[in-house]
Amino acid sequence: MTAETAPRRARIGIMGGTFDPIHNGHLVAASEAQIQFNLDEVVFVPTGKPWMKDTVTPGEHRYLMTVIATAANPGFNVSRVDLEREGATYTIDTLRDMRKAYPDADLFFITGADAVAQIMEWKDVAEVWTLAHFIAVSRPGHALTISGLPEQGVSSLEVPALAISSTDCRNRVSGGYPVWYLVPDGVVQYIAKHHLYRST
Ligand code: ATP
Repeated sequence: MTAETAPRRARIGIMGGTFDPIHNGHLVAASEAQIQFNLDEVVFVPTGKPWMKDTVTPGEHRYLMTVIATAANPGFNVSRVDLEREGATYTIDTLRDMRKAYPDADLFFITGADAVAQIMEWKDVAEVWTLAHFIAVSRPGHALTISGLPEQGVSSLEVPALAISSTDCRNRVSGGYPVWYLVPDGVVQYIAKHHLYRST
C-alpha cells in the first residue's frame, strides 16, 4: 500500500478536566483545537478523583453536565474511563485507556496554559509524551509557555480568550449570582435542578 492509498489515521482530541462545572472556556478551547488541528472528534474525559484537587462534586453530576454541554456538537463525545477507574486520576492512566479505545488513532491531549506549566510534575511523564501530542491552549491570566517541554511533543494554540473558571462559576452560584452565558443553558438548568454549589 502506498502512502497515497493508505487510509488516513483518525485524529482524536482528548479534553481532560474536572468539569465542576463544565464552562464555555472548555468548549471554546476544544472547538478551536478541533478546527486548527483537523481533529475528527474531541472526547471530553471528566476526572474521577483528581490527584491535585481536594473536594469535587460527585462524578455523575460532572459527567451529566459534560454530556449536556457537548450534546449539540456531533464532533464532541464524553468518556467515562476516568470515572470508572478506582483511585486518583492521573493523565497517564487516561492516555493508556484512550490508546486502548483508539489503537490506530493519533491522540492529541488538549490542556490549558495553567495545566501545561505543571506537566513535568505529572506521574510517568516520560511515557506521557509517547502516547499523545499535546495542544497547549492559551488561557487568560496564565502565561502560555512550552519551553522546557519536548519540542515534538507540544504545540501551542491561541484560542479566543474567555476568562471563565469553574471556581468562579461555583462561587457565583453559591453567592447567588447568575452563571448564564458562562456555562451552556442546559448546565445552568442542571445546576439549579440539583441544587449544586449552594452554600447552604
Ligand atoms: P477550577 O477552577 O475548578 O480549577 P477550571 O476552570 O480550571 O477548574 P478544569 O476542569 O480544571 O477547569 O480544566 C480542564 C482543562 O481546561 C484544563 O486543561 C484547563 O487549563 C482548561 N481550561 C479551563 N478553563 C479554560 C479557559 N477559560 N480557557 C482555556 N482553557 C481552559
